Amino acid sequence: MGYTPKEQRYEEMPYNAVGRSGLKLPAVSLGLWHNFGDSASYDSARELVLGSFDMGVTHFDIANNYGPPHGAAEKTFGRILKEDLSDYRDELIVSSKAGYYMWKGPYGEWGSKKSLVASIDQSLKRTGLEYFDIFYHHRPDSNTPIEETLDALQGIVQSGKALYVGISNYNAEQADAVLTAAKDMKLKILIHQVNYSLFNRDMPEALFPVLEKHGTGAIAFSCLAQGLLSAKYFNGIPADSRAAGASVFLNPESVTAEKVEKSKKLNIIAAERGQTLSQMALAWVMRQNCIASVLVGASKAAQVAENVRFMEKVAFTAEELAAIDEILHA
Ligand code: NDP
Repeated sequence: MGYTPKEQRYEEMPYNAVGRSGLKLPAVSLGLWHNFGDSASYDSARELVLGSFDMGVTHFDIANNYGPPHGAAEKTFGRILKEDLSDYRDELIVSSKAGYYMWKGPYGEWGSKKSLVASIDQSLKRTGLEYFDIFYHHRPDSNTPIEETLDALQGIVQSGKALYVGISNYNAEQADAVLTAAKDMKLKILIHQVNYSLFNRDMPEALFPVLEKHGTGAIAFSCLAQGLLSAKYFNGIPADSRAAGASVFLNPESVTAEKVEKSKKLNIIAAERGQTLSQMALAWVMRQNCIASVLVGASKAAQVAENVRFMEKVAFTAEELAAIDEILHA
């Protein structure tokens, strides 16, 4: 059956400016790293995207290598775009990335101009898009001069293949170097996509002042530590969870007693705030000024519905923050 978006989809979601730019992202964005490959159900992938759009989620994030197999998530998203969202392209911010291993030989990963240009061309074909809104260099590459990677990104913007460009997984020092070099070339690096959560805070917190200095915004990923920052693993590993599945990034061994114990303690603070643990984890990430959006993954539309409601309570008292720190540092 054809899809008609909810009339009221823009009523609840805040949209935040990305750094010093005119682009706004929804407070919650949807990531397609998991649950959009060939082994996932197409109906469920479609429900996730369309359900999210109905909740005001206008930003969908992919990468060349998301699947499995590599490229499959771009194809799945391309089909949803074509069949359901073609009339709404101008309401969407779609991003893709290149830098991790994608194809055989010396050009299938990292940050050479050859690799990045070939990759975006492939990604455009797989999604059926004419352009990406944001295109990222997915990880730093110490074997390619920064200027070459930036030259590739500048060419991608000038040729209209992407409107904005960003970086991901650069540490504070690497980010400072690349943002300084970009400024010299008059290239705007809009955004940094950064792993930031209650369980991973030190490296990103060193990065944020650098981004603010350069006027670059941030979008945070794995804010729920792939589900560990929810109540999901409190009584073992559910059969339908990421840790029980084929993901190499979260397996039963990653669900340690220490993490579950910390999550249980954090959950008590969340409950006192009238939130679920996932909602508090997202609110905690969003207290950083430079973060425009939390980029959340989901296996069910109901999870997105729960997550978007984190906005009902974003402020923390000094006592709550201190209690959280004490749990994290125990
Ligand atoms: P999250 O920490 O958001 O984990 C998502 C998982 O958490 C879901 O698949 C689901 O797991 C579980 N979950 C989500 N909401 C809830 C809820 N309300 N209650 C209980 N469980 C919940 O992040 P991801 O690691 O998936 O990353 C998000 C996105 O970030 C990716 O899709 C990708 O776009 C981007 N990313 C970017 C990277 C980069 O290098 N730039 C690297 C990694 C991710 P379950 O399946 O068990 O239900």
